[in-house]
Amino acid sequence: MRVVIAGGAGFIGSHLCERFLSEGAHVIAIDNLITGSLHNIQHLQDNPKFQFINQNISRPFTIEGAVDAVLNFASPASPPVYLKYPIETLEVGSLGTQYTLELALQKNARYLLASTSEVYGDPLVHPQPETYLGNVDPIGPRSVYDEAKRYAEAITMAYHRTHGVQTRIVRIFNTYGPRMSLDDGRVVPNFIAQALRGEALTVYGDGKQTRSFQYVDDLIEGVRRLLDSDFVEPVNIGNPTEMTILEFAEMVCEVMGQSIKIEFVDARIKGDPQTRRPDITRAKAVLNWQPQVPLADGLVKTIAYFRSVV
Ligand code: UDP
Repeated sequence: MRVVIAGGAGFIGSHLCERFLSEGAHVIAIDNLITGSLHNIQHLQDNPKFQFINQNISRPFTIEGAVDAVLNFASPASPPVYLKYPIETLEVGSLGTQYTLELALQKNARYLLASTSEVYGDPLVHPQPETYLGNVDPIGPRSVYDEAKRYAEAITMAYHRTHGVQTRIVRIFNTYGPRMSLDDGRVVPNFIAQALRGEALTVYGDGKQTRSFQYVDDLIEGVRRLLDSDFVEPVNIGNPTEMTILEFAEMVCEVMGQSIKIEFVDARIKGDPQTRRPDITRAKAVLNWQPQVPLADGLVKTIAYFRSVV
């Protein structure tokens, strides 16, 4: 099997590269390193089945030889980072998705799009099933990511319906784990880095907004099963254990054995969802998948990683 992973040097992309290599596949990782890092894949570079191409997938590119699967995980995904790179984020969701779909079409390869819970926007239905159509502000600051991913889903379905490409769409909910970028501004790296430095944890707003955090290994298992399935419509992959951001701050401090220090900061980005929890009925039924890693266990592994890089 020969697999192309766009965004292969990113947090999730690098775990996917590892997974396919462990199955004996050849992996071609493409990344322009805008948010990904060579550090994430340096342990793979000596593997003869691994190849890295430094390339922006929003510009035309070619891949030599046969390809069995194309997985598109290339995009900034942290709110402060996609706000810093708004045009690049829109381009990779639109042009980057089309160029990778064209690759799948040419090679007669299966295609998997990494979409996001952000397609539901600030949801008015809770928890969110795949049938919920979302509540997205098309001109709000988060729209550069949300609308890019909604377009990415639309063009993926169009390539399926028009050209018969075997497409899959995973809607990824908040995911954490080793190789998240320490300074990407998301709540998990922020809180862990702050706690490691003995600083107060920056809770945005009143901290009553909720999220549900899944460990990266659970996500990779779900993605792997989805690629092998014949299910074309989107599938939520996330952990349904929901908590407020304030409760999450307490949890991080508890796992680290520290007393809690909180600083409330007025830094919520307009449209920051007030609640988010996946309805995973479809993933359970179609993929026989559900998350296995409890938050406390995943946090221990993630904290060990951040300790090594802080
Ligand atoms: N957040 C926070 N403190 C931080 C970073 C984020 O309270 O240092 C909040 C943020 O306002 C949001 C939630 O944590 O409500 C999750 O934010 P994140 O950036 O991790 O990703 P999102 O789920 O919004 O895409």
